[in-house]
Amino acid sequence: MENQEKMAASMLHRMVREFTENELAPLDMEIDAQGDYPQGLFQKVIDNGLLTMTLPREYGGAGFSYDSVAKAIHLMAIGNASMAVTLEGHFKTLEQLLKYGDQRLKDEYLTSAAHRIFAFSQTESSGGSNPRGIATRAVKSGDDWIITGDKIMITNGGLAQVYCVLAKTEDDQMAVFVVDQDMPGFSFGKREDFIGLRGTPVGEIVMDHIKVPGYHLLGQIGQGLEIGNNAHDDARILMGAVLTGIMEHELQIAVDYSKQRKALDTPLYELQTIQEKISEIAIARQNTELLYQHAAQLKITGQSYAQVAAMAKSYGSRAAVRCGDMALQVLAGYGYSREYPIEHLIRDARAMEIAEGTVERMSGEIALKQVNQ
Ligand SMILES: Cc1cc2nc3c(=O)[nH]c(=O)nc-3n(C[C@H](O)[C@H](O)[C@H](O)COP(=O)(O)OP(=O)(O)OC[C@H]3O[C@@H](n4cnc5c(N)ncnc54)[C@H](O)[C@@H]3O)c2cc1C
Repeated sequence: MENQEKMAASMLHRMVREFTENELAPLDMEIDAQGDYPQGLFQKVIDNGLLTMTLPREYGGAGFSYDSVAKAIHLMAIGNASMAVTLEGHFKTLEQLLKYGDQRLKDEYLTSAAHRIFAFSQTESSGGSNPRGIATRAVKSGDDWIITGDKIMITNGGLAQVYCVLAKTEDDQMAVFVVDQDMPGFSFGKREDFIGLRGTPVGEIVMDHIKVPGYHLLGQIGQGLEIGNNAHDDARILMGAVLTGIMEHELQIAVDYSKQRKALDTPLYELQTIQEKISEIAIARQNTELLYQHAAQLKITGQSYAQVAAMAKSYGSRAAVRCGDMALQVLAGYGYSREYPIEHLIRDARAMEIAEGTVERMSGEIALKQVNQ
């Protein structure tokens, strides 16, 4: 990284750290309890210019490299994983518009990304892990497409204004279209009552014969699954970053508690059983950071990053749940209490064993790559 770029990245990280400490961390427990962001909080994210970190300057973005952005997401997740996941969903979608979008589409939409949230919509009741099962249809009508279908469990569903939507054409080819919530026929369905990441809105979008201009197609007809997979790969890097932040939070709680609590006259941190747990959490946190940073570097340098990104999310999600359990055990009775956030960190981390591809699907992808190389 050039010196100037390094300085800009370190300013970004300082700003995100301060924003997280001042605005997000103090509300972390409230966000979890209420199951939403408090009024006005999201506006502060917009006002601080946090929605355009990844975008090139020509679209009004700050043009940060993906590793710098991932680090910013990591720092944010130490204070609140929900907001970090909201940004993850937004950034992975912008990446697909940048990579596959028509120039007219990019000029119209990416320039609005400073104040509008984007989301990627693939899952349906008939197709989660297996997207070929989706029922959403795109029917050609002159130069336009008519989109009809129902997407569920969409990160930022209800909060986002722009949705990339995976659909099937009449001849069963997969394609992705950009749909705007202002288009006639668009509506929101139910918001999920998920057990973790309770601030992140995850909901349903309903598309009833929405007329979408031809240039809203991403890439080509038939490229839908490739674009969906690419979105997963980009998201998994950022989820590795979120999980690193969660483990850092778990570590902080365990370390702080072990210093102030005594077993008779001995501080907890002097006990080997406690040291083992603290060291396990520290190692897992470090491993996940190395994985997501390595995947980001591969992406930046134009190399294949899908495998390492899958490792970052697959390893990181399982580790963050296990580390949450170890941190809970360091605090024992207090760890089991809602007075401390550990139980909600475990619930937050648990979502990432499912979202952006289940760990079972990723085990398959990672193993097959090993077998076939
Ligand atoms: C917090 C959260 C956010 C989400 N955000 C989005 C989003 O932004 N956009 C979006 O499109 N979707 C989103 N999803 C949906 C998510 O992508 C799906 O839940 C996920 O793909 C799994 O699909 P499913 O829930 O239908 O489970 P299923 O596909 O029904 O899987 C059920 C079980 O069977 C296993 N299984 C299924 N098929 C296979 C297979 N071929 N090989 C091995 N195991 C298999 C799974 O691993 C799982 O254990 C989100 C989900 C969550 C929890």
